[in-house]
Amino acid sequence: MPLPYLRPELVALAAYSSHGGDDQPLPAAIDHLDTNEYPEDLPSALKEKLGWIYQQEIAANRYPDGSHAQLRAAIATYVNESGTQATAANISVGNGSDELIRSLLIATCLGGHGAAMVATPTFSMYRILAETLGIPVVSVPRDPDTFALDPGVAQSALHQSQPVRVVFMVHPNSPTANPLTPAELDWLQQLPENILVVVDEAYFEFCHHTTVAIALERPNWVVLRTFSKAFRLAAHRVGYGVAHADLIAVLEKVRLPYNLPSLTQAVAHLALSHRQELLAPIPQLLAERDRLQREIAPLLRVWPSAANFIYGRPRSNLDIQDQELHQIFQRLREQGTLIRHTGGGLRITIGTPKENQRTLERLKQAV
Ligand SMILES: *Cc1c(COP(=O)(O)O)cnc(C)c1O
Repeated sequence: MPLPYLRPELVALAAYSSHGGDDQPLPAAIDHLDTNEYPEDLPSALKEKLGWIYQQEIAANRYPDGSHAQLRAAIATYVNESGTQATAANISVGNGSDELIRSLLIATCLGGHGAAMVATPTFSMYRILAETLGIPVVSVPRDPDTFALDPGVAQSALHQSQPVRVVFMVHPNSPTANPLTPAELDWLQQLPENILVVVDEAYFEFCHHTTVAIALERPNWVVLRTFSKAFRLAAHRVGYGVAHADLIAVLEKVRLPYNLPSLTQAVAHLALSHRQELLAPIPQLLAERDRLQREIAPLLRVWPSAANFIYGRPRSNLDIQDQELHQIFQRLREQGTLIRHTGGGLRITIGTPKENQRTLERLKQAV
């Protein structure tokens, strides 16, 4: 039905689908290796504790703590394990980092104030959220062999249409799994103060390189992190930004007043206080990643990964690749392994050892 009161660009926009827009039914038992979640649930002792917290400490009839004071202080302590001195005033918490991405777009570009820049292939949410807000997006293609951004190309794209007010870079990037290069970091650091740099460190716990120290020194730099990946809390929707206190104050203005439910704040706090236990198995996951990468290499061209997923492409000619990619994706899906077909390649999340073994066997049949 036509709804003529709507903004036309919103009507034309396709809705985001987390499983790649495929409507065919999935097999009953499925390995979900398409959204880069951690493969194991929270330990049941922690879930029990959370149940106890809900019973004893959370009044369901009361609004949540809208200042997130305790959680922000706990996040600052965690962030400072990389040797910085952030305080709660340097942290803003969002309903997933997706909310922070939207807040940053509102704060920098809304109302014709400017454009957002992304380096493709990359996380699709930047473009989707920008488009829902009517914000133009400038895409700069990455090098097809290394997935690095050419600073010269990026620099000249800054002034093409509307002035770029915000640059989004993922470190390490999704879907291609490469960390920022020294040349990219230099380019980002020399950007003028009227351009905000967003470094999305959603996969920080898998690579341990961070730009938080730069963010705390500069007024135009923000680091985004999330509890949805290594901390196993995708169901609870918690992300955070680390930046200069003045930028944080603006993010606090933009967000909804009670953006984080009480239970969500409690579980993020609980996960932080048990972080040693939760993060301890990550080296094993990375060893599995390296094993899978070696074994997939004869089947697909795979790139080095600094995250909890692998990116690969068929070795065939470019002109038949897209068809081939879709075929591999479909064959895996029919056998019960769901991966992501994106950015001209296949992104495979590292799962449990059993899931990884199945991925390998099914890939051998599908390629
Ligand atoms: C998974 C992911 C996020 C996490 O988003 P949430 O809204 O916190 O779940 C953010 N950025 C990138 C690049 C991601 O891959």
